[in-house]
Amino acid sequence: MQVDFLIIGQGLAGSLLARALKHRGQKVMVVDDGWKSSSSQVAAGLMTPLTGRRFTLTPEYPELFQRAQKILSSLNVFRSIEVYRIFVDAQQREQGLKRSQSDTCRPFIKKISDQAGELDSRLTDEWGGALMSGAWVDLPKLLHDSRIELQAENAWRQATFDPGDVQITSDFIQWRDVTARGLIYCDGYKSSQRGPFTYLPWKPAKGEAITFQSPVLQTSFVLNREGWALPIGKGRWRAGTNWEWTQLDENPSSMQKEKLIRRFIGYFREPIMLEVTEHVAGVRPCTSDSYPMIGTHPSLPRVHLFNGMGPRGTVWAPTLAEEMADYLVKQSPLRAQCDLRRFPISTK
Ligand SMILES: Cc1cc2nc3c(=O)[nH]c(=O)nc-3n(C[C@H](O)[C@H](O)[C@H](O)COP(=O)(O)OP(=O)(O)OC[C@H]3O[C@@H](n4cnc5c(N)ncnc54)[C@H](O)[C@@H]3O)c2cc1C
Repeated sequence: MQVDFLIIGQGLAGSLLARALKHRGQKVMVVDDGWKSSSSQVAAGLMTPLTGRRFTLTPEYPELFQRAQKILSSLNVFRSIEVYRIFVDAQQREQGLKRSQSDTCRPFIKKISDQAGELDSRLTDEWGGALMSGAWVDLPKLLHDSRIELQAENAWRQATFDPGDVQITSDFIQWRDVTARGLIYCDGYKSSQRGPFTYLPWKPAKGEAITFQSPVLQTSFVLNREGWALPIGKGRWRAGTNWEWTQLDENPSSMQKEKLIRRFIGYFREPIMLEVTEHVAGVRPCTSDSYPMIGTHPSLPRVHLFNGMGPRGTVWAPTLAEEMADYLVKQSPLRAQCDLRRFPISTK
């Protein structure tokens, strides 16, 4: 079978890149191992404009958000949602007020609450908080729909790809019966552990999330303090997460489950009952400078990487998939801060 590109991994990155390449008339074959190590299956899918302890807006966010909204809406997986960032102390409140006065942040901040309980009297928001306009991306639907579409086109295979099994020549790539012009790794944090891109400065980070049922009345917004809790309807919530850099696997831990439950209960003044129905773990493909790593291997011109989406794949992947497809098909330049050539091959 002859294709233009052989794509390894059908997470958020592989799904969107396959779509962008197909839109440009390219034939693809996507190989996935059945979401065995899928960060996209575990992710909440939230797009939160101001983040981190310092409550900052990254310079690219407004542009990326706008483009992501358009692309993801066309796939019917984009939902606008409000996120209530609860301040932890006076200093954070001060930051929040400052940000709400800046021209770049103002469009994303709907309100700074002045006193505890202003948005919802049940909440423990002593320092108030910022109600932001964000989004939730239905990642399970996106992954499912693109798998069905690829399968219908005979462009998807379930297999565990081993980089040692591929033949790379100056003219083509050969994997089993598939001959391709190019090979693209979209395999999430696995690219940090084996294959031709281990030389890059990866910083994979494990995170866990729980889904639970609770009789507590659902808020109309996402709760965000240290982690997040997303009301998903019919008394169900999704809550996460944590950061762990040493134990990189998909095994959830009872310690984190307890922490996530305690954090959720801590959002409310009243006692909360809940029953956990699902507990999952995944590894974010993070990088040392927090920017994605995309482009071509420095010594293997037919081998490419579309990866390193980190904790904000929903924000980066839609735009970068378009840019990567233009780069592969039309040789358009990649944005410098995401081009993997910013790291020399000797870096490790
Ligand atoms: C707990 C948690 C919460 C998160 N919350 C958010 C959030 O709210 N918002 C947000 O934007 N991002 C969030 N993220 C980050 C988000 O998950 C990532 O940015 C994004 O999903 C990365 O997508 P990807 O396609 O690059 O990788 P993945 O989703 O990991 O996809 C890689 C795919 O390749 C497959 N694969 C790997 N090796 C092989 C192989 N050898 N052969 C075949 N297939 C292989 C894997 O099974 C997987 O299906 C979160 C992550 C975690 C862990």
